[in-house]
Amino acid sequence: MAERPIRVFQLAKELNISHTEILSFLKGQGIDIASHMSPVDVNTQQMVLSEFAKDKEIVDRYRKEQVRKEIHDSRLRQSQVTSKKLELLTLKDQRKLEQKEKEAYEKAQKEQAEKLRREAQEKKKAEAKVKEKKLAEEKEKEKKILEVEKEPAAESETKTTAQISKVKQPKESVRVSGKKRKLRKIDLSDIESKLGQGKRKQKVVKPEPKTVDVPQSAKDRVKRTLAKIDTKGKKKIYKRGRPSQDKDDAVDSELSIVKISEYASVDELSKLLFVSSSEIIKTCFGLGLMATINQRLEWDVIELIAEEYGVKAEQVTELGEDLYSLENTEEDLKNAENRFPVVTVMGHVDHGKTSLLDYIRATSVAAGESGGITQHIGAYKVVVEQEKTITFLDTPGHEAFTAMRARGAQVTDIVVLVVAADDSVMPQTIEAIDHAKAANVPIIVAINKMDKPGDDADRVKRELSDRDVLVEDWGGKVQCVLTSAKSGDGIQNLLNTILLEAEILELKANKTTRAKGTIIDSKLDKGYGPIATLLVQKGTLKVGDPFICNDFSGKVRSIMNDLGERIQAAYPSDAVQVLGFAQVPRVADIFAVVESERDIKRIASDRQRLRREIDHKRIATRTLDSLSAMIKEGAIKNLPLLMKGDADGSIEALSESLLKLNTEEVEITIIRKSVGMISESDVLLADASKAVIVGFNVQISSNAKLQAKQAGVEIRNYKIIYNAVEDIKMALEGLLEPEEKEEIIGRAVVQAQFKIPKIGFIAGSKVEEGLIIRNGRARLIRDDEVIGENLEISSLKRFKDDVKEVKEGLECGIGLEGIKKYNEGDIIVIYEIKKIKRKLAVS
Ligand code: GDP
Repeated sequence: MAERPIRVFQLAKELNISHTEILSFLKGQGIDIASHMSPVDVNTQQMVLSEFAKDKEIVDRYRKEQVRKEIHDSRLRQSQVTSKKLELLTLKDQRKLEQKEKEAYEKAQKEQAEKLRREAQEKKKAEAKVKEKKLAEEKEKEKKILEVEKEPAAESETKTTAQISKVKQPKESVRVSGKKRKLRKIDLSDIESKLGQGKRKQKVVKPEPKTVDVPQSAKDRVKRTLAKIDTKGKKKIYKRGRPSQDKDDAVDSELSIVKISEYASVDELSKLLFVSSSEIIKTCFGLGLMATINQRLEWDVIELIAEEYGVKAEQVTELGEDLYSLENTEEDLKNAENRFPVVTVMGHVDHGKTSLLDYIRATSVAAGESGGITQHIGAYKVVVEQEKTITFLDTPGHEAFTAMRARGAQVTDIVVLVVAADDSVMPQTIEAIDHAKAANVPIIVAINKMDKPGDDADRVKRELSDRDVLVEDWGGKVQCVLTSAKSGDGIQNLLNTILLEAEILELKANKTTRAKGTIIDSKLDKGYGPIATLLVQKGTLKVGDPFICNDFSGKVRSIMNDLGERIQAAYPSDAVQVLGFAQVPRVADIFAVVESERDIKRIASDRQRLRREIDHKRIATRTLDSLSAMIKEGAIKNLPLLMKGDADGSIEALSESLLKLNTEEVEITIIRKSVGMISESDVLLADASKAVIVGFNVQISSNAKLQAKQAGVEIRNYKIIYNAVEDIKMALEGLLEPEEKEEIIGRAVVQAQFKIPKIGFIAGSKVEEGLIIRNGRARLIRDDEVIGENLEISSLKRFKDDVKEVKEGLECGIGLEGIKKYNEGDIIVIYEIKKIKRKLAVS
């Protein structure tokens, strides 16, 4: 597969520096780069990397240190709800604990800084000494050269050697102390000063020769001495299963690389690192992470642990990733042949989509020779002329189209937009236009019902032009055909137009490779079992082919066309029914034929496991906050928004103000603005376009809410334009990431536990400080140990009554979610997590 070019901003992100730095560096090197979006070739990348690599090292270490710290700090916050081990702290104890942790961390930092400082000092001292000695030596040598005529050369050499060995002494002692150093906690400024000397990864210097034939320059010698002192870069190399060939090499070599997949478990990691899993668990503990043998670890943690064992962890890209890519490989491009178009018909309800499709289908079937019973398989092929075919996706409606796109599948080459000539451009027409535009698919307009009295094609064309769909006779590029699904007039013309458009698009695919495609329909058939309609997008599909689809392996048992005929092979742009799935695939799943059945079973099961992990960890990803963070990182430079408002005026006002916020770096794209409640279709479009929905004084349908939650689409509803503009402005500046802050509300001490039927045990407690509130979060502390964290309060009672809060000094019964037992003296701390939105500094 061709690699994607790396762009300047990606390099900058990788090195964590500003792209302007790279640009100005390259300019200095005489390489002109247009902008941060420009791709850079391999040589230039190398140049940039070697120039900024040192900085990257520092940043990487710093970042890891930060992660380590974060893990450490967040230990208390990390919910162990799953492990049912619950934690808690009192106000006092918590502060004590926090203080202790803070102190321990600061102490470690200080010690490290101190250590580095001491070493730097020693190094400096040694350096100075060496310099001094060297100077003396040089002087001595000069003297000797003057005396050389009188004295025998051998004597001078011996003397020099003696001096050298004297010089060597302090060096050696310094080296020993340097060797003991372990690079664990790192102070960035110290590293910087050290790395600044550019002396990383020096080889251990072999014993110096006893005799010096050629007098060395002082600079050279200082260099060698420093090399001895500087052992930085040598990581602690643990004994691993693989014997090293050369002892010296083992110490000096770069970190060995081990390929590990994200979310590897402790057990898997231990096997890869050749250490026991209990050791890994211990290391996790050291990182402030409670882990069990089967626990899966986040990538950052895996990296850290591997580093602890002197190994560099390299992430295995998703298993069998290339199997799930429909991108053309070089091979595909080389063998690409023309293929026929795949078309979706869209438009407002009752404008005649189904009628058009039915007409086309009926004439096609009638014209066809087979005359088999037509099957509803979600797509069908129409022969227009001399083997020229069009595949129509038989799922009119925007949901199917967008749902596929939302899942990353783009199967349509052309959208036919049906508008009734006796009606006008309607909400769903506009929606269809939005969808097609967002998907970057060309539109062909079919103005239908031209047989009806009162038809007015010109009006339709004019209205379309208001929506930026300019048909050809209005000076635009969009082809427009007048049709009647009733009489059939213009339909042949429509088909020809589609073929013409397809020719312009130069649709091509490689027929000779293994088949790949997308599932466009699927069901569980009582007789056949799982059955799915596959749109072949490249290669040739044959009966007997082993395949993978939706992380499940299978083997093609039979292929049927839309006429229900069994066929032996299917080609690009063909939509066929396939039998042989292990389970019903989902619409938009990628289907890929593979070489060996055995390999695929392994990949399938690994992928299933990985998928479960990822699904498990999946959270709403597309919030304005997260987009804001991505903007800040430079990862995206476009903020797509979908706007819904209560009136045209307000939407216009809002969109105008928002578009004014565009900067050179980041741009807002409004993919849809319309009046009305936020619907499922809006969420689908937002999901497919990775957009955030901005509502202004509108309702959100309950289905839309549900769907948004599932898809991770954020809906922001505002009542004041100013607030919307402010939020988006902050998002654009990458400032919207809210800070989370814990605020302690109160503390209670458990005096006894009571059993309440149906509820279980509750803690009879006395409020010692502040308030106990029903909707706060709780932490349970027992003997200075946090037993539970972030617990829900399942019940709060004053005598027999449920209450919302209990004040200081009063007694109450507290039930905490997941806690089965309370001891006298347990402490319950109630707190709230406050998200503090960052504000722009007033300039
Ligand atoms: P869809 O909702 O877009 O699929 O629209 P349909 O295909 O169900 O058509 C809606 C109505 O319009 C049906 O009653 C059709 O018979 C009618 N219709 C569709 N196309 C034409 C046409 O070209 N001419 C006339 N006169 N009626 C049509």
